[in-house]
Amino acid sequence: MGLSKTIWTNPTEFLRNQQPENPVLFFSPSALQAAARRFIDGFPGMVTYAVKSNPGEEVIENLAAAGVRGYDCASGFEIDLIRRLAPDAAIHYNNPVRARAEILHAVAKGVKSYSIDSASELQKLIELVPAADTEITVRFKLPVSGAAYNFGAKFGATVELAVELLKTVAKAGFIPSIAFHPGTQCTDPAAWETYIRAAADIANQAGVTIARLNVGGGFPSHRLNAVSPQIEATFQLIDRVTTEAFGADRPLLICEPGRALCGDAFTLAARVKAVRDDTHVFLNDGVYGSLTELPLIGVIDRMEVLSSEGDRRIGPLQGRIVFGPTCDSVDRLPGDVMLPADISEGDFVIVQGMGAYSVVTNSRFNGFGELQMATVLSLRV
Ligand SMILES: *Cc1c(COP(=O)(O)O)cnc(C)c1O
Repeated sequence: MGLSKTIWTNPTEFLRNQQPENPVLFFSPSALQAAARRFIDGFPGMVTYAVKSNPGEEVIENLAAAGVRGYDCASGFEIDLIRRLAPDAAIHYNNPVRARAEILHAVAKGVKSYSIDSASELQKLIELVPAADTEITVRFKLPVSGAAYNFGAKFGATVELAVELLKTVAKAGFIPSIAFHPGTQCTDPAAWETYIRAAADIANQAGVTIARLNVGGGFPSHRLNAVSPQIEATFQLIDRVTTEAFGADRPLLICEPGRALCGDAFTLAARVKAVRDDTHVFLNDGVYGSLTELPLIGVIDRMEVLSSEGDRRIGPLQGRIVFGPTCDSVDRLPGDVMLPADISEGDFVIVQGMGAYSVVTNSRFNGFGELQMATVLSLRV
């Protein structure tokens, strides 16, 4: 995978000229910077980027250029990446379980913010991290729905445990904060309200005034034509509820979106390898490639089909079984995918909103997955 220096007008121009046999991800720096500005202008606090959603250097560089000053990192690799590409940015090491060697690496790199969700992992930080000017954030979870995929299954302390952890953090001399993550692609703003009120209860029960409240990622990207993300409404709700719940002890706010920053800045073009006996569509990309997420959190219907000459297919929509290129029968897009009836071998299937959890989870299984990247001025075909 490499990013060529040529900038194309749009995906169609590239596809018509290059006739790529491998899948292509088109990147629009201006779309990414616009997403960053939307958060920086609208969110009532600090905007940080969850690096795991797309750690591409072009992504980090454009976010830094747009004014993103903090990065949520989960590994030594991500910490080193941010130190190299955005040396002055704040690093929040928010993977709540770490090996001791990883903690020492972060300390050596000057990381001053860590999250935990258990007594054992907090104890490791108390032993290895100097407390001065250093924040420890207690991450909690609630049985709240509204997201496409629930992160609470792996991380987050119960409310009762969070109260105890917060007391210990404050007693050990660290700056105490609270975090939650409502789950990814969370289209229900009410999830944030429930969490913020619970965070205020935790601080209250612990008798600790928290410095910051991290309201997570989870902000949605645009996956369905009919559902435009209402991000500003969520920002306003977060602002109002934080004041109501914390009153005079209102903490500073942090958000750490991944998907909502990078998702809509990339568009995928996968090529039709075959329409098998006029029924099944076989693409050169699938669930072991950049479409990994679709079976987990549902389809993206922002799709169009272009002929190899770059003309839009406008036949009536027809449900098709769509397979990826590997020999594994799991390699299939969920359900029936609505595609123009005249879709043909050699066509390009364009999928908008493919920037998050696509490049990073792309595997080389079965020898496929050689993903090419191209920069475009506009993602519209
Ligand atoms: C993955 C992750 C995020 C980003 O989640 P999105 O749903 O992509 O916004 C934010 N914070 C933490 C701790 C995460 O693990």
